[in-house]
Amino acid sequence: MCPVRTRPALEAERVLEQARSEYAALGEAWDNYQVDAELLGTLLFGLGMQRVPDLRVGERSYAGFLDAGARLVAVEANHHEHRQRFSIAHEIGHFVLHYLPGRVRGGIFACTSSDMEVRAAPHGDGARSLHLRQEAEANRFAAALLMPEAAVKAMHKVTGGRVFGLARHFKVSPKAMEIRLDQLGLAYSSK
Ligand SMILES: [Zn+2]
Repeated sequence: MCPVRTRPALEAERVLEQARSEYAALGEAWDNYQVDAELLGTLLFGLGMQRVPDLRVGERSYAGFLDAGARLVAVEANHHEHRQRFSIAHEIGHFVLHYLPGRVRGGIFACTSSDMEVRAAPHGDGARSLHLRQEAEANRFAAALLMPEAAVKAMHKVTGGRVFGLARHFKVSPKAMEIRLDQLGLAYSSK
């Protein structure tokens, strides 16, 4: 099985395609190189986006929050702009992958900074495994949404695979960029 074309990545591609055609209908060109996740979430799914300093639910701090029923996404305003972008894309991932297909009850997702870094989807049916699997899927979706495969491959050619340049271009953290380059099997230099 090709490791790149996971279900979350395919769903992200489908959503980007939808954004492109919605935009074309408005007479505008959609930019697949610097994806506006905030606009996409609002345009396609009616999600309201809020940036909240010191985002908390109860006693705990979170990087991102989705109340799918209320169509609300909130992200931690004190995080770097590039991290906020990833958090927004991650919450859209939960909406598309887990809420819309009816895979969850309630539709509330509260995601910590460490949830945003879960890469592997563990086996098992326990609540913890299910949670981590959903986090890994939302991260895969976010990576494919903000760093579309074709766009990354094209920019990789013209930048010589320098992580910092690519990360700045796609407006993501260098760490997120490295993970995406790993997923796509592209060589890079960390400078
Ligand atoms: Zn999450």
